[in-house]
Amino acid sequence: MTVIEALVQSLGDAVLTGDQIGQRYRSDASLSGRSLPKAVIRPASVGDVAAALKICNEYRQSVVPQGGMTGLAGGANPNADEIVISLERMTGIEEIDSDAATMTVLAGTPLEVAQRAAEEAGFLLPIDLGARGSCQIGGNLATNAGGIRVIRHGVTRDNVLGLEAVLADGTVLSSLNKMVKNNTGYDLRQFFIGSEGTLGIITRAVLRLRPLPAGRLTALCALESYAYVVALLKRAQQQLPGLSAYETMWEGYFGFNCAAEDLRFFETLPAFAVIIEQDTHGRDGERDAFEAFLGQVLEDGLIGDALIAQSEKEAEAFWRVREGHALDRLPSLVNLDVSLPIGAIGNFADECGTALCAAFPAAHVSFFGHVADSNLHIAFSGPDATAGMLHEVDTIVYALVGRYRGSISAEHGIGILKRDFLDRSRSPAEIEVMRRVKAALDPNGILNPGKVLG
Ligand SMILES: Cc1cc2nc3c(=O)[nH]c(=O)nc-3n(C[C@H](O)[C@H](O)[C@H](O)COP(=O)(O)OP(=O)(O)OC[C@H]3O[C@@H](n4cnc5c(N)ncnc54)[C@H](O)[C@@H]3O)c2cc1C
Repeated sequence: MTVIEALVQSLGDAVLTGDQIGQRYRSDASLSGRSLPKAVIRPASVGDVAAALKICNEYRQSVVPQGGMTGLAGGANPNADEIVISLERMTGIEEIDSDAATMTVLAGTPLEVAQRAAEEAGFLLPIDLGARGSCQIGGNLATNAGGIRVIRHGVTRDNVLGLEAVLADGTVLSSLNKMVKNNTGYDLRQFFIGSEGTLGIITRAVLRLRPLPAGRLTALCALESYAYVVALLKRAQQQLPGLSAYETMWEGYFGFNCAAEDLRFFETLPAFAVIIEQDTHGRDGERDAFEAFLGQVLEDGLIGDALIAQSEKEAEAFWRVREGHALDRLPSLVNLDVSLPIGAIGNFADECGTALCAAFPAAHVSFFGHVADSNLHIAFSGPDATAGMLHEVDTIVYALVGRYRGSISAEHGIGILKRDFLDRSRSPAEIEVMRRVKAALDPNGILNPGKVLG
C-alpha cells in the first residue's frame, strides 16, 4: 500500500489528490512557492492529525503544516513530493473562561474570528497583525507573530498559556494550561511557539485575554531626527500609561505612502513620522492628559508638530499610511524584517539605505518599524529584480545586521527564505542545540524538513 492509499483508508475524503488540490496550497504570501504537494490532508479533529502523522512517520513521508498561508518566509511552501496538512477545517472557539481571562481555541481559527469572539465577551485578544483576516491562531503561534500591539502586551509567545500539539509520531501532547504561574519542569509549549511547523503540529491553544479598552487616542507626530524618535519613545513609555502603539516611518516611506494615498498631514515632509496610540478606559481627563503630553514634548522641542485624530476616520488615515498598501503595487517588492538594539536603528537604516542604493541605484528603498520592539522593516523594490538581485539584497542587509549584532528575523520567522542566513544571528552552539531538539522530537525528520534548519 502506498502512503496515499494508507491515508485515504484512514481519513477518507479528508485527503485531496490530483486536480482536487487548489493553487492556494502552493505558496504563502512571500509568493516564493513553486510546487503543489502530492496530497493535501484537511483533518477535522486532533485525532485526524494524529492518525495522519502516525502514517506519514511510518512511511517516512515529509509533511508541511499549513495555516492561513500569510507567512512571509516560505515556511508553509511544499515540494512536489511532500504532503500538506492544512488546519483550515479545525476552526472554532471552544471556551472563554471569564474568571481566568482565557480563550481556548482550535488552531485553524482565523485570528480575526478569535479577536471578535474575545470582544463580544468583553475582552481584548492582544495578538494583532495586518493579516488578521486570513492568518490562523496555529500559524501565529508557529511563527511567534509580532505586530502592532507588542509594545503593550508582548509577542504571541507572551499571550499563550497552554497548547496542544501532535508530534511527528502521532503522539498528542496536551498542555492546555490556564494558569499564569506553572513552574513544573520544562515549559514544553515554548518548544512549539516559533518552531514554524518543524517540531509538531499545533492543534489547540489557550490564549490570555486582557481587559477591553474603551477606546484609543491616536496622534501623528513629526520629528527631525532618530535621536528624537528614541527620546520621545522614552517619554511616552514613562508618561502614557496605556501606550499601545509606537510606529515610526522614515521620510521616504511616509512621503511615498502619503503621496499614493493623496494625503498631506504636515506643511513639509518630516524626517520621521511617528504614530502614538494610547488605550483609554473611559476615565475623565484621559484625552486632556494625552494632549498635555503632546503639548509638553512640543514645547521641549522633541517634536516639530503633532496631529491628534478627532475621529476614527482620521486615525484610520494615519494607519493607512503606516500600513503602506500602496507599496504592494511596486514591482518585486520585498519586506525585510530585522531587529536591532533600539539606539542603533537610526545609524543602521542610514548605512543600509546607502549600501542598497549604491548597489541598486534605480531601486525603491524605504524604512518603517515597531521601534519600541527594536524591529525595523525595509521595503525594497527593484524595477527588473531577479532572484540573484534579491539574494544580493539579503546578503547586504544580513551582513550589516550581523555587524550590528541584530537579528535577521524580528517577526516573520526563518522558513526557507532566511535559512541560509541563520548563522548571522545564531551561534554554532545555538544551532547545534536546535538540531538536537529537532532530532529528539522528530527523529525521522518528517516535519517541514529544510525549514529553519538546513
Ligand atoms: C499583510 C500582512 C501583514 C503581516 N503583518 C505581520 C506582522 O505585523 N507581524 C508578524 O509577525 N507577521 C506578519 N505577517 C506575516 C504572517 O501573517 C504571520 O507570520 C502569521 O503568523 C502566519 O500565520 P498563518 O496562519 O498564515 O501561517 P502560514 O503562513 O500558513 O504558516 C507559517 C508557518 O507556520 C507553520 N504552521 C502554520 N500552522 C501551523 C500549525 N497549526 N502547527 C504547526 N505549524 C504551523 C507553517 O508550516 C509555516 O512554517 C504579515 C503578513 C501579511 C501578508
